[in-house]
Amino acid sequence: MRPSSPLDRVAGAHDAAVLAVARRGDPVSRADLAAALRVTPQAISKILARLIGRGLMAEAGTITAGPGKPTTLYRIEPSSRRAIGLHLTRTRLHGVVVDLTGEILGRLALEIGHLQPIPDLVATLATMARELMDIGDGELLGVGVGMPGPVDRGEGVYRGTADPDPWRGAPLRRLLAAELELPVLLDHDSRAALVGETWTQPHLLRDTALLLVEDGLGAALCLNGRIIHGAHSQAGEIGHTVVRIGGAPCSCGRRGCAQAEHRAALDAGDAAAAADVLASVALDLVRLVDVDRVILGGRTVHEHHAVTMEAIRRDLSAGLLAEPWIHVEVLLSTRGADLIAVGAACEVLEHAYGVPQGLVGPE
Ligand SMILES: [Zn+2]
Repeated sequence: MRPSSPLDRVAGAHDAAVLAVARRGDPVSRADLAAALRVTPQAISKILARLIGRGLMAEAGTITAGPGKPTTLYRIEPSSRRAIGLHLTRTRLHGVVVDLTGEILGRLALEIGHLQPIPDLVATLATMARELMDIGDGELLGVGVGMPGPVDRGEGVYRGTADPDPWRGAPLRRLLAAELELPVLLDHDSRAALVGETWTQPHLLRDTALLLVEDGLGAALCLNGRIIHGAHSQAGEIGHTVVRIGGAPCSCGRRGCAQAEHRAALDAGDAAAAADVLASVALDLVRLVDVDRVILGGRTVHEHHAVTMEAIRRDLSAGLLAEPWIHVEVLLSTRGADLIAVGAACEVLEHAYGVPQGLVGPE
């Protein structure tokens, strides 16, 4: 894959902005797009010509409103591109293939042996990706993989935990790209989940924290409309903030981390205590980065969603009592079990939408 130049990135950002408006659904006119993006209709014409040339958009008829020339409408071409998303955990693999709007065309799920050796793991990922490739039409842009961290998205490497870990240091992106001869992107499960959530409603989720509770506990942040990665690709590792000094031992080597305390409460059958840990974490996130939306996602949250939502809302209203002007909405992810796989696929689509970081082709 040719490295993108600064001018490509400028054109890409323009294309991405037009596509982000178009993927909301209804056909749009040049004037609609110009108003939404605050540029001239002439600038929109150039971008549309480029997108139509690439097959990403098409004309969608005309409307006549009053005297004068009829207005041409444009729509996105959902079937022009596809992307595959894989959600990998220690024991399971869940995959989807989506069209250019992020709609799911097909899905697969598989139980895998606990901590497969790396060559076997890469073969398992490639097998599922190949099965998903047979679903739907449109150019396949690549494969996104979302997995529990620590993951270095820039390097495409799973960094691993302090515990003995056979996946530690695995260059999964390079290995899978070579196996499939396709571009591959590797990211934290929580960040993939947040891309999946923001994909269809970027205008609503400008300042958002997504709290992901699967086997571990992590968060991803969208601030001022941008997903935050951090200097070492580790932004949002809120599961390793200490909520109880000298508490339960954690995989990171410390004691009393939110993740360890949450797990210990669940193991003891105390869903209310586990929800209290999540509520404390949610309030800390709101305090730290001032988000107005907290989205809960992940398998474990869905199992205990009622008690968790209630605890978070309770702690937020108690914790923000002195600041009645701060309003934070607590939402449950609507993507269910597909959340992370869809998000990883949407991260690949973002590449086509002109956000080229993170997706690297086979060498
Ligand atoms: Zn920890």
